[in-house]
Amino acid sequence: MTDVNNSRPILATIHLDALRSNLTRIKTATALAGEARVWAVVKANAYGHGVQHIFEGLRGADGFACLDLTEAEALRSMGWRGPILLLEGAFNVRDLELCSRLNLWHVIHCEAQIDWLAAHKTNEPQRVFLKLNSGMNRLGFKPAQYRAAYARLAMLSQVAEVSHLTHYSDADSDAAQGVAAVARQWEVFQTATQDLAGECSLGNSAATLRAAQRSGDWVRAGVALYGAAPDYPAKTSADWGLQPAMTLSSRIVSVQDLAVGDSVGYGSAFVAERPMRIGTVACGYADGYPRSAGNALAGAPVLVDGQRTRTLGRISMDMLAVDLTHLPHSGFGSHVTLWGRADPLQMDSVVLSIDEVAAAAGTISYELMCAIAPRVPRTVNEGES
Ligand SMILES: *Cc1c(COP(=O)(O)O)cnc(C)c1O
Repeated sequence: MTDVNNSRPILATIHLDALRSNLTRIKTATALAGEARVWAVVKANAYGHGVQHIFEGLRGADGFACLDLTEAEALRSMGWRGPILLLEGAFNVRDLELCSRLNLWHVIHCEAQIDWLAAHKTNEPQRVFLKLNSGMNRLGFKPAQYRAAYARLAMLSQVAEVSHLTHYSDADSDAAQGVAAVARQWEVFQTATQDLAGECSLGNSAATLRAAQRSGDWVRAGVALYGAAPDYPAKTSADWGLQPAMTLSSRIVSVQDLAVGDSVGYGSAFVAERPMRIGTVACGYADGYPRSAGNALAGAPVLVDGQRTRTLGRISMDMLAVDLTHLPHSGFGSHVTLWGRADPLQMDSVVLSIDEVAAAAGTISYELMCAIAPRVPRTVNEGES
């Protein structure tokens, strides 16, 4: 199933078998800590994969967590009847109408959201997750205000059940100070909630994999489900047993020979020091490939016909250059993997991890996933079910 008809060879393939396998991996991590339930986080249109594309792969989750109401609506229209959590809750009083209509659970992180709920007319009391600011200082009630907020919510006829939620700022960190920050936030959360009824949700992907016992009754797994390591480079996706859920692939559309001193691309940023053979790939920053990858001294890693090579020079809007000098059998029309599987149909294929490409570009996998441009056609690869 491809949803854009285009002869340009770039393609994003979504792997349902990988999504299922990664979900199992997260469930295994939580099982060690006594069977937490798993929300599949599908904000930012499922981290750029497309909510409609990942649904079949992640419907084994206990719930879905999203940011925008359009994502919640898409899930309901695809037939999902289980829990859906709005990670930042309502942005205005009207959002609560949709929460009632679609039966959404929602986060309460500020007084205004409690006021809206108190004024909301509904016959269906809602389940809410009260957010504690345990140290991230982004959203949530400070520990000193938490109990009053809880008491206020518990009294409202609009509220069916109050649960507890917080977010770790340093769960992906290997450094002693990061590990200490998780321990500190966990303590703050315990102290604030200890004698209050309600289920708890703490862990993101990193916390669930690294500290399942501090992740709560409901974990919120995002990036790991899409097959990237939340704590790269301390750990790789292979270390965690995660499979890439997306392959970004294209083809070589031109081959050029370089003599010593010839340059490549805008700004002549790469200059050949020996005779070279290079390929031009139909993929550029307008597809979501990071332009900053062109700043990496040794280029960014790329697979051509499953063999590793690297980008040369700057990334253009629609094209990038790769070194073919050591790949005499590759050339015009060769298959290129920007990240993901060399063979999109094989789960045991050679993989180029999105984490490596992100690192070369000075960013993280999350940003690359979310940046895949609408002009890139998507196809869903069923894999074995
Ligand atoms: C995005 C998000 C998550 C998921 O984080 P990952 O690192 O992708 O697992 C969890 N909780 C909240 C509140 C989020 O915003």
